Amino acid sequence: MKVMKFGGTSLGKPQRMHEVSKLVTADTEPKIVVLSAVSGTTNALVTISDLLAKGDRTTAKEKIDALEQQYHLFINELVSTENRKAIAQNILQEHFEFLNIILRISYSEALSKDILAQGELLSTKLFSTYLNEKGVKHILLPALEFMTIDMNDEPQIGNIRVKLTQLLKQNINQQLFITQGFICRNAKGEVDNLRRGGSDYSASLIAAAINASACEIWTDINGMHNNDPRIVDKTIPIEQLSFDEAAELAYFGAKILHPASIWPAQQFNIPVKLLNTMDPSAPGTLIKSEAASKGVKAVAAKDGITAIKIRSSRMLLAYGFLRQVFEVFEKYRTPIDMITTSEVAVSVTIDNDAYLKDITRELEVFGTVEIDREQAIVSIVGNEIAADANTLSKVFESLKGINVRMVSYGGSAHNISVLVTGAQKNQVLKQLNSGLFGLF
Ligand code: ADP
Ligand code: ASP
Ligand code: MG
Repeated sequence: MKVMKFGGTSLGKPQRMHEVSKLVTADTEPKIVVLSAVSGTTNALVTISDLLAKGDRTTAKEKIDALEQQYHLFINELVSTENRKAIAQNILQEHFEFLNIILRISYSEALSKDILAQGELLSTKLFSTYLNEKGVKHILLPALEFMTIDMNDEPQIGNIRVKLTQLLKQNINQQLFITQGFICRNAKGEVDNLRRGGSDYSASLIAAAINASACEIWTDINGMHNNDPRIVDKTIPIEQLSFDEAAELAYFGAKILHPASIWPAQQFNIPVKLLNTMDPSAPGTLIKSEAASKGVKAVAAKDGITAIKIRSSRMLLAYGFLRQVFEVFEKYRTPIDMITTSEVAVSVTIDNDAYLKDITRELEVFGTVEIDREQAIVSIVGNEIAADANTLSKVFESLKGINVRMVSYGGSAHNISVLVTGAQKNQVLKQLNSGLFGLF
């Protein structure tokens, strides 16, 4: 059995949904199809939720109505018979009524998760309606019945496996299953999600849970490129990556994959393929345990980073100093991405600054604390990067004219990271594109 995940742009227009139906019925291998929300929907739902949080019900209502209008146009072209149009209209009615009811309830974090879940619930039900019109036999699997996270928001892979296996067993003769990406249930049993872009993570977790033959991530580009195509003009697709390389790229900003989406596939050794819905015959990128070759494969960047420098004259003699520093971050459940040390200071970076005030207050006990916001981590990723003695000099050569605030090298054989100001990020990506890949 394989898993096929389709992102928002692959479902963004009724015609795209028609194409997706062709792709999922192209062969007879049993499959679980994971769908994101139609592109733009989750953003719209986030806006609605934010407006409600601010108490602006009038604008929230306008946004809900506008979204509903878009969906009415969508279903008109999605299905053609009156019967199916009526079914699709009922689906819209059910979900938009829900949003309108929420308008009247006082806002809470839990309610906002319910709002965000509507996108995937809608896309899967509408796709299922279209498949029914085409006479394609399938089963709609509710993700909220098997996709669970624990108290630390970590997916419960064992539990997911048990529940999903039960659901599949109840439909033993079925070949095609459709389910929602992104959404899940948390430890309190409430509707929750796997964070933005989380459908990739859903797909990988499902693939791991059922020991799938492959996890295919279908999107709007022909695989992982060597650089961010939104920023750099000339980028090229990468044929093959190891799990480690792909995980580093996803974690350090390659938007094509959710940051955590590689580990489940890696743990259960399930090949991941990045494929293009707009060009299904393109080879895309294959991600598996072995790297195809040594050397630098790609660069990626992560925005919105905060750098924290703790300067302490006591550090020189104080073993246990770093432990105390790390404990502060642990207490506020804030992961550290980069770290550099000297005799008198330690610099770390974080991308979640929700507890920055508390963290700063506690760090000030150890010495002076300096904060730099709006930084960017640019990562150069590959396999055994250090194997080529020239890589480091090429990287620094490429960074000419850039103020590099931190460098991380040697932490793994797959990554060199530099910290620059957010304003310099695009320029750094461009300079690395020419310096490392000869692409202009
Ligand atoms: P989906 O809606 O299918 O989940 P995403 O928008 O999340 O799609 O991811 C695909 C997008 O990721 C591409 O359109 C591309 O602009 C962006 N992207 C960023 N970095 C890379 C990269 N290194 N390789 C390929 N795509 C990338
Ligand atoms: N719809 C969700 C989002 O936009 C999940 C996803 O697309 O992967 O973040
Ligand atoms: Mg995505």
